[in-house]
Amino acid sequence: MTHDALVVGGGIGGLATALALGRSHLDIQMLEQASAFGEVGAGLQLGPNATRVLADWGLTEALNACAAFPDALQVRDALGGERLGRLSLGSQARARYGQSYATLHRADLHALLLQAVRQLPQVHLALNARVTGYIESTNVVRVTGENEAVYDARALIGADGLWSRVRSQLLGVQPVRASGHLAYRGMARSADLPAALRAPLVTAWLGSKLHMVHYPVRQGNWFNVVVVVHGVLGQGHGGAVGVDPQSWTHAAHAADLRRTLGAAHPDLLQMVDAVPRWTLWPLNDRPPISGPQTHARGRVALLGDAAHPLRPYLAQGAAMALEDAWTLGRLVEQQPAGADIPWADVFERFAQVRWARNARVQRRSKRNGSIFHASGLVRWGRNTAMAVLGESLLDLPWLYSGPPQP
Ligand SMILES: Cc1cc2nc3c(=O)[nH]c(=O)nc-3n(C[C@H](O)[C@H](O)[C@H](O)COP(=O)(O)OP(=O)(O)OC[C@H]3O[C@@H](n4cnc5c(N)ncnc54)[C@H](O)[C@@H]3O)c2cc1C
Repeated sequence: MTHDALVVGGGIGGLATALALGRSHLDIQMLEQASAFGEVGAGLQLGPNATRVLADWGLTEALNACAAFPDALQVRDALGGERLGRLSLGSQARARYGQSYATLHRADLHALLLQAVRQLPQVHLALNARVTGYIESTNVVRVTGENEAVYDARALIGADGLWSRVRSQLLGVQPVRASGHLAYRGMARSADLPAALRAPLVTAWLGSKLHMVHYPVRQGNWFNVVVVVHGVLGQGHGGAVGVDPQSWTHAAHAADLRRTLGAAHPDLLQMVDAVPRWTLWPLNDRPPISGPQTHARGRVALLGDAAHPLRPYLAQGAAMALEDAWTLGRLVEQQPAGADIPWADVFERFAQVRWARNARVQRRSKRNGSIFHASGLVRWGRNTAMAVLGESLLDLPWLYSGPPQP
């Protein structure tokens, strides 16, 4: 059979795409390489631009049931502990943007999207379905998988993440870019934290060559903690052998992290010590997307990390994948009912609407990393700017008021 569209990848971007297109009653086949959807990963932040997308899909109630909604973002110095900046979130974010600023576990976001997709009978999900390549002909894209599986569709969407197979075929093989940064990630139970650290806040600690962020998830019962340091996996951080750069679950040693943090502020160290188990992820990305032709060509489109992987310093990885999926869904909804979807035209418009915004978020995320980890004069300039400009430096209306209407 020939499906309307094939979606490669069942992460946040893939599920969101299946949902966005399935709502238009299209016949969608989603192909995910994993054998099961598990509890992998840690926390995610969703700005009002992302919660707006979920609200449009009727998922606000499901979000409310699993997320936390912090009152504010505070920025503190990792050594001295002094507050450098603050941005009100909570009711203020809702007043400014009409939507919430949410923090949640990736597995919870994934589960709520999966539940919504499962309500759509014309969306089919296949696990254990690793895609190896595709052939595009005039009217059809034929996708091949392991075990000689073959799938046909009118369109193909690569939502297969940073190491995307679809991207390699569409744009040619290009190596990912190592950032030289490693993320230690873990979760602390709120009940194990002193009262001051249990406040419903996103806290970003800035130090020289490192920063740490923590925020509540699971309705405040847990805190997600991430510490980003400069370093290389296996060299003073984690075990040395069997390193799989694509894994999200490298075991980390708390002692390595403690050594790297040195004489950080006691509040920061208390939060670190409350995390029973750490994982370690090398952070990689790609140069910013350079034009619409890197988002889509003919009947093939890329979205989420496959198109524009992000460093996590603007907390927009999942949000941009949701925005991409929503945009594609809107463009399909705008097509006349009953007519064949002109996929190449839809993808061309999709790429036009999305590429510059995604490139801007990629650039801004990378720049934030340098600012967060600064020392010397740059650090002084950063702290002064935060003191003088206050909230206006941390608030990002161009970002949080999105996604742009296609
Ligand atoms: C297991 C996992 C855990 C994560 N945890 C976090 C987290 O805690 N915090 C955070 O900020 N970000 C996390 N991320 C990254 C974050 O989800 C993404 O940056 C963002 O949501 C964009 O999502 P995406 O769907 O574009 O890519 P991804 O989330 O990477 O999803 C890509 C999907 O495609 C599948 N896939 C890849 N290649 C193939 C293939 N050839 N055939 C079929 N399927 C394929 C992968 O198995 C994966 O499910 C995680 C990603 C993964 C895969």
